[in-house]
Formats: sequence, structure tokens, C-alpha cells
Amino acid sequence: MRVTPCQATLAGAIGLNLLLYCAWRDRGGVTSLLLSPPRSIPSIPILLWDFENDLAGTARSFASLPVPVLVAAETAPYPPVPLPAEVGLLPLCPTADRPPPLAHPKLHVRIHHTALVPDGTHAVPGLLEHVGHAGRRAGDTRLVAAPVGSVPLRCQELRLEPRAWTARYGPSAPGVCRAVEGTAVLLLRTRDLFALPFPLARPVPTALFVQAAFRGWGLRLMPAAFPAARRPPISPHGRWKAENLAETRRRRLMHDLGIKREVLADGRERWYGCSKDTARCFGTVHARTPQYLLAGRWTPPCCLRALRETAQHVAGILEAAGVRYWLEGGSLLGAARLGDIIPWDYDVDLGIYREDVRKCRWLAAAAAGEPVEDTEGFLWEKAAEGDFYRVHYSRSNRLHVDLWPFYPRGGVMTKDTWLGHPQDVEFPESFLHPRVPMAFAGFTAMAPNNARAFLELKFGPGAIENPEYPNPTVKYLGQD
Ligand code: ZN
Ligand code: MG
Repeated sequence: MRVTPCQATLAGAIGLNLLLYCAWRDRGGVTSLLLSPPRSIPSIPILLWDFENDLAGTARSFASLPVPVLVAAETAPYPPVPLPAEVGLLPLCPTADRPPPLAHPKLHVRIHHTALVPDGTHAVPGLLEHVGHAGRRAGDTRLVAAPVGSVPLRCQELRLEPRAWTARYGPSAPGVCRAVEGTAVLLLRTRDLFALPFPLARPVPTALFVQAAFRGWGLRLMPAAFPAARRPPISPHGRWKAENLAETRRRRLMHDLGIKREVLADGRERWYGCSKDTARCFGTVHARTPQYLLAGRWTPPCCLRALRETAQHVAGILEAAGVRYWLEGGSLLGAARLGDIIPWDYDVDLGIYREDVRKCRWLAAAAAGEPVEDTEGFLWEKAAEGDFYRVHYSRSNRLHVDLWPFYPRGGVMTKDTWLGHPQDVEFPESFLHPRVPMAFAGFTAMAPNNARAFLELKFGPGAIENPEYPNPTVKYLGQD
């Protein structure tokens, strides 16, 4: 049965609504749908979703159900796609002269459930109702997924580690489903959907799974499948554009969700944070407390990775040049605690013998006054703040290793620039006779002998056993 706009309005009045949400890429792109059921029908919404899609066919197919349908897209499809008259359009990108997208009138009728339907899905009379019945809340289950096409969905565990900016997928334990792999129609209560901070962010499944996992919502898999439309062949250029768009959307979503690393179930990883060619993830650090600590997070994984790489690179160059160096401050503390950078630290500190500076061409060049980029793109410079050196991950990414030149005076190691940190103190040169190898950040670094005594001299008794943030007067560990 086809529904006229008038019938649709009537249906809305009795609480029977379907919204179709969809979006496009170039030729008709992605489609999604939302639908609401009448009170007597437990639920049933729908939406479409990207692929080499058939927006017109999908819209026609769902418009044949006795429910109103809304197509959501980033912008109106171009070239225009002929849609059935009763199918409304929900452009997701706000424009200055229009009401905000979610103010669409069809979103404000009493829709109980919304189904998000991938473009290229065909409607089956009664199937949405069936899925809707399953959508009645049971325990913490608030999402229902039904497969599209003949490939069954695979359930996955999804664990979020917000402090580590990480989303970790894995095989699901029996009865635990937080995400699915495969093309799916997703259904949930409309109220739940629009209470989410990013209700229709794309890619929709990932956005929903992550936001649902943050809230502890369970996901139920339905065996009944929606038929998939036959996909038209796609040109290599078309495929390139599609992959590009998917990647752009994914990056934007991960930025919005605060995720910089995804660990997939097969062990592969996807990274979204900083790199050699970008700025680092956080701005200037004030009062030894980076902004991410105040936001309840630790050092982004990309930044830790870049710091490790820089530290290993610098240590290798210093060793090759015969510069005597050792792990200092928080870096030695991290090495003693866990053989790595402290997970909330924002730089690496090494001490060096001041008289050895001339032995390393990059340090000598920096000492002469000009920052210098080495053959691997690390930037060496003399710090503007005083008599010490900094090696940056790159010219654009200013994650760095600080090199603190000390010199012996009467058996005590001293220096000329003091930053006033409690741990910034002189120490007996005997700690460096000999220096000893110590595991740090994925390589073997040189360290003072008797690291414990060295650290307790600098940080006070129990420094290794009692972790604390760099400046507890601003924020202390355990405050979150
Ligand atoms: Zn980063
Ligand atoms: Mg430090």
C-alpha cells in the first residue's frame, strides 16, 4: 500500500511514523531511515546507510510501508534523486537560513522507535514490526541489529578506555554484544537516539556503538534479514571516492568522540591522533599540568608513541656521538616503575654532560644558535627558556625530549638553569659512575646507578611506589 501525504499525516496523528534517514555520496550515496511505530505496534524504525547504493529504490521500497519515511543526508543528493512524494528529506548539515536539522517536524511527532537503515536495503512487510518487538527494553538492551543481505552479522565486544583515548574491539563473550560487523538495520527508542550527543553522526553504526558502549547499553542481534538491493558496478574512481569519504567521516567522528586509537578484533589498529606532519595533540603546558589531565585523560597514545620514537632516536644519536646521557626526572621514574614513559607524562627528560655537547653535530649546531633539522626530520634547538636543549619530533609536531646539561663541581653534578621544580636539584656525580642500562620506552637507555636512591633524592621517599601527577596542587591523581 502506498501512503499519500494526507494518509501519512493521519498515521502520524495516531502515532504511526516512519522516518527514513539517509545520505549520499556523489551518485546517490548513503541512505538511512527512521521510523516510528504506533503504540499498538511495539516499534519499527529504519534508516539507510552508505554503499554503492540505490537511494531511489530504497526510498520506494520503504515508502510502500504504511509509515512515513524520512531520508537523511549530509546535503540534498546531487544529481537529484527522484524520491516518492511522501518521503521527506532531512539534510544533516546545518545551513544559516534554515531551522537546525533536528528541528524537522517529522522528528517531533511521537515516534517510539527509530530504525537506521542502510541505503540498498529492501523493505519486507512486517519485518520492521518484528524487529520493533525485539526492541522492547529487556535489561540493558537498547539496540537491536538485523542483518541486510545474506551475510550474518558478527557480534563484537567493544571496550572504551577514555583515559587512553582508545576503543578496543574483540570477540564477544556469550551474551555480550556491543557492536556488530556487517551491514545492519539498527533500531532503538527514538528518545534514546536523540538523547545521544551525536545521534546521526556518520558512520552511523560506529557512532551508535561507541555512544551506546559509553552508556552500557546492550545490543541484541536478530536473525531475520532484510534483503539487499543488487549493487551497480562501481568504477575504480568511484571506489576511491567512496573510500576517501568513509575515511574523512571516520576521522571526524573519532575526533568528536575523543578516540585516537581503535584496536580491531583481529589486532589491527587505526590511529587518528597526531603524526609527524601535524601539530601535537595538546597545547602549551601550564603549571606542569597538560590540558588533557584536567579533562580526566592521560597522554594520547599517538603522543606517547611519538615521544618513545623521539627518545629512542635521540638516545641512539647521543650514544653514537659519545655523549654521556642518563634518564632524568619523570622519565627515570617511569623507567623504574614500568620501563616506559609515565602514561600521563608529556615529555622525556635526559641529563647530559655539558662538556659533551660539542661531540654531537646536531647539539653543537643548536648550541650555535640555529634550530637544525636532522636527517630524519627531528628538530634540535637550544631552548628559549634557558641553558638546555630540546629535540622535537618534527618541525610541526613539538613533542620533545629535553636535554639538561650538567657539569661536575667538587663531586656534585650541577647546572646553570633551574626551573624551580622540587625534583630539579644537584646530585652526587657517583650516580653516574657507572651509568647503567635500563629498559625505557621500547629500548635500552642509560640511567644513573641506584635509580631508587637517585629518585628519592629528587622526588622524596616512596617516589617509585606512590604515583602522583606532576603538579598535585593543580590536579592530583585520584581526583577524577
Ligand atoms: Zn598525539
Ligand atoms: Mg618531564
